[in-house]
Amino acid sequence: MTKINPGAIVLSLSLLGGSVQIQAAESDHEHHEAHVHGEAELLIAIEGDALEIEFRSPAMNIVGFEHQPADKAQMEAVEAAIGTLKQAELVFGIPSGAKCEPVAIEVESPLAEHAEHAEHAEHAEHADHDHEEETHSNFTGHYHFRCAEMSRLERIEVKLFKLFPGTEVIEVQSVSKRGQQKIDLTPGESTLEL
Ligand SMILES: [Zn+2]
Repeated sequence: MTKINPGAIVLSLSLLGGSVQIQAAESDHEHHEAHVHGEAELLIAIEGDALEIEFRSPAMNIVGFEHQPADKAQMEAVEAAIGTLKQAELVFGIPSGAKCEPVAIEVESPLAEHAEHAEHAEHAEHADHDHEEETHSNFTGHYHFRCAEMSRLERIEVKLFKLFPGTEVIEVQSVSKRGQQKIDLTPGESTLEL
């Protein structure tokens, strides 16, 4: 197995055989230093009729904590956040003229995996002692759209700031026929011009 830097997220377009790949590798962000609270990342790739978006955010921005859910309310907060993030139309404002339809959406967090685990209560004790030092956790999302009128995809509004006010800045890297760009979005400037 190839060793993967845990601080890196990679987005590749499988339909291109991986020939388009953008990578946010952060070699100095290994171990549990993988993120800065308030900052999130988006990787956006457009090719042909495919729009792929990879999202990564500290759990702090999303639910206000990064430890394993300690009670039912925190478990529910994690599940609610995942439910919100899975609704692509809440997260991204995509011009209707581009006729983009989501074909695959995956949202994950280690907090949710543990929440499901803990619901099967045999392992509640394990939950108590095993993860107290684990201070950083992320939410990640993968969104794959197919757009019938890609030429009309001129911008994407990123609604994460309103959904999750703990988000202060989103570092966006995008690649399309029109080139690559890297830009920081903020609550006051939350639309990516493509
Ligand atoms: Zn953290």
